[in-house]
Amino acid sequence: MKIRRSGTGTRSTKSQVPVSAKRPVNKLKTGAKNAKYPDIRRDLERQRAAILNDVGEVLTHRDDLAAFPDVSDQASAEVDQNFSMRIRERERKLLKKIDEALERMDAATYGICERCGEDIPYKRLKARPVTTLCIECKTIQEQEEQARG
Ligand SMILES: [Zn+2]
Repeated sequence: MKIRRSGTGTRSTKSQVPVSAKRPVNKLKTGAKNAKYPDIRRDLERQRAAILNDVGEVLTHRDDLAAFPDVSDQASAEVDQNFSMRIRERERKLLKKIDEALERMDAATYGICERCGEDIPYKRLKARPVTTLCIECKTIQEQEEQARG
């Protein structure tokens, strides 16, 4: 004898589907990483503007010198020129570093040590925003450079 179950009482328990299971909606974090160091970005941009301003002043200063006909001492004029060229060279390098730092910010790789891949502490970034190395790696690098002579 077979016991047949009639399908009459098939109660659906589907009402128990957890509707309220709130999962945090994954907000699109587009650009969120870029805003990781907003104040340092501001510092970099300010420094960049200051350098561009300085370079302009150096150039203006040179024009002033050239306007003085009694600067007959060619040697000292050359020293002046070398000096301003050195300044410009140094500032050009720094400017490049700043640009690179800003690029790293855009690429969300800013603040990561190039050498060991660790996060560079905020304090160090704040003090030296263009750095690409953590203090440990920077120390090692300097020791290597000294050893090389
Ligand atoms: Zn490192």
